[in-house]
Amino acid sequence: MSTIASRLLGPGVRLLRVALSQDCVLCGAETNDVPLCKPCRAELPTLARACPSCAMPNRLGETCGTCLRRAPPFDRTYAVWRYAYPVDRLVQALKFHGRLALAPFFADAFGPVIERPHAERVDILIPVPLHPERLAERGFNQAAEIARHLIARTRGHAMPLRIESRAARRVRRTLTQARLPFDQRASNVHGAFACSTDLKGARVAVVDDVMTTGATLAELANVLKRAGAASVENWVVARTID
Ligand SMILES: [Zn+2]
Ligand SMILES: [Zn+2]
Repeated sequence: MSTIASRLLGPGVRLLRVALSQDCVLCGAETNDVPLCKPCRAELPTLARACPSCAMPNRLGETCGTCLRRAPPFDRTYAVWRYAYPVDRLVQALKFHGRLALAPFFADAFGPVIERPHAERVDILIPVPLHPERLAERGFNQAAEIARHLIARTRGHAMPLRIESRAARRVRRTLTQARLPFDQRASNVHGAFACSTDLKGARVAVVDDVMTTGATLAELANVLKRAGAASVENWVVARTID
């Protein structure tokens, strides 16, 4: 609003505008587009064309050589952004600094995935579970927060998604994957999950904040398929590209 316009509209409008605007979580500029101002939003690193199985980018958006040689246990992966600046800061702000306002922002960013008919490929959302000790330390599961907001966005659908936060459990506390060399990540998560829910015939989307090597998501997909899931896809906020 221009200075002249706000002078004409009086102090009430100016106060309202101040009350509605907040600081952008990235650059600190005052904005009405919480949690990110428009210029910061425009700079987020998108993942345009990528392998439909593992979300690694490639020019034609075809199944990559790695997935052709050995198909992963999950059927598809959809990643909104590359895990690079400033998305890494946003993910860390949610996870380690409890900026819960970022969860609905991430849910909105899934865009077409949660629209019909895409979302109707899926019956159940399962957030990647945290080990109970880690959940107690953090106070919330960032994947469950994002999943909750995704569910809210499909309420008007003919077949709304359900969330099954307790279908899978983390039964073994693992080392943080990011601290391990790539070749140790699969063994680090082996046996990390259990599922005692009957998922017979269910089409599942697993929700997570970051996919790095995919070892955690592969382990979880195996467990969910053993529990009867007909298909498992991953919906992740960001994908690490090496
Ligand atoms: Zn900004
Ligand atoms: Zn692939």
